[in-house]
Amino acid sequence: MNSKLHIYNTLKRKKELFVPLNPPNVGLYVCGPTVYGEPHLGHARSAITYDVLFRYLMYSEYKVRYVRNITDVGHLESNADEGEDKIAKKARLDQLEPMEVVQFYTNFYHDKMRELNNLPPSIEPQASGHIIEQQAMVQKIFDNGFAYEKNGSVYFDVEKYNKTFKYGKLSGRIVEDLQSSSRDLEGQDEKKNAFDFALWKKAEPEHIMRWPSEWSDGFPGWHLECSVMSTKYLGEKFDIHGGGMDLLFPHHECEIAQSTAANGEESVQYWMHNNMITIDGQKMGKSLGNFITLDELFNGNHKRLEKAYSPMTIRFFILQAHYRSTLDFSNDALQASEKGLNRLFAAITTLNKLKTSDKSSLDIQALKQKCFDALDDDLNTPIVFAHLFDGVKFINSVASGTESITASDLAGLKQLYQDFIFDIAGLKDESDNLSGNENKLDEVMDILLNTRLEAKKNKDFITSDKIRDQLIEAGIIIKDTKDGFEWELK
Ligand code: ZN
Repeated sequence: MNSKLHIYNTLKRKKELFVPLNPPNVGLYVCGPTVYGEPHLGHARSAITYDVLFRYLMYSEYKVRYVRNITDVGHLESNADEGEDKIAKKARLDQLEPMEVVQFYTNFYHDKMRELNNLPPSIEPQASGHIIEQQAMVQKIFDNGFAYEKNGSVYFDVEKYNKTFKYGKLSGRIVEDLQSSSRDLEGQDEKKNAFDFALWKKAEPEHIMRWPSEWSDGFPGWHLECSVMSTKYLGEKFDIHGGGMDLLFPHHECEIAQSTAANGEESVQYWMHNNMITIDGQKMGKSLGNFITLDELFNGNHKRLEKAYSPMTIRFFILQAHYRSTLDFSNDALQASEKGLNRLFAAITTLNKLKTSDKSSLDIQALKQKCFDALDDDLNTPIVFAHLFDGVKFINSVASGTESITASDLAGLKQLYQDFIFDIAGLKDESDNLSGNENKLDEVMDILLNTRLEAKKNKDFITSDKIRDQLIEAGIIIKDTKDGFEWELK
């Protein structure tokens, strides 16, 4: 397989690798969710993988435009352009407007992504908001001779395309093989070949999501939106396209064919695919009874779960595997991650209390370089964490007095953990969040009550009473004491 297409393993923090778009320096497009169900582990892995890439590129001082789409039309139940639209089906079952389904699950997805501490993308375009652009691309492919119309639907002519350009570059699939394996498929009579795919589908009478076009009242094929929205926002040539491994074929293969047929050349410089998740060694699936949503993981409410796992445990667990490896979820593995994460945060607390001396027994620069080298080696997050855990051993040894660190190295080490744990890996200390807010409240109350005390001293009783009364109204009880004041929440 062509390694340039397979992964982007040559990203060495060299800005010249990227086609400069002005702005941004880096264009990143990621296939987002089809919004018809609750977000699950698969959504988490994909979003976290590209969030770390996004964070790392920004940390490396690129200007990044990160586009992640919302699929809200055209994704049929079967990849072979058959079956009901996934969103329309959910709308029919729940007796809702399709756009109600879309809004509900889009909000749901955003909530869970926020809990996982993923940054929002720069642009989040919806397929249904780009129908005109999709029709224009169908026309362009048609005009270039790589599409044909049948009964109001327009299909991509894979065989014809394959004569000029090569179909199957990304997946390594060969048209001749596809031909022999799909000869007997039924229900494909509109297509010249079973592996042709829909660019525009004529809507059946009962189909709600439909738009007028010169071919028929219908809707765009699923693969089209990504070709259209990526190039609309990132240019006809852009840097990185990501998505789950399950999208490699046919979705991304069809995207390459569409963009090439329309524009004469490929759009994407580097493809990146995160691998799949298994649960106790099995593929995750509704029929297998091991389908776990993010909400179920966070509240522990699933028969396969021994307990709840926090969003940061999930994030850390996902980043402890390389994104191209499959990742197996089990209670044992998650609990090991939880322990590891606690150990990491305990070390960061220790780090803030370390005593310094006049020499260091660890080369902080070398440790930092190792972390960068791992990220530059195809975003190898598990190796980064292995180095950071070497640092944890060192921190604990300094605390117990068997190793030593200078003041300037301590500052460097604190910065290193800040950079890699919080800024790049996007982890946050969940316990700290709560106590952090409480500390803030303490500070604010001190400011207010000291102002009140000062007003009283100056015999400005109007101000001091006003502060007291308004705090009582806000549910805070104040007691004046000999030494000043005490307060508590009602
Ligand atoms: Zn896509």
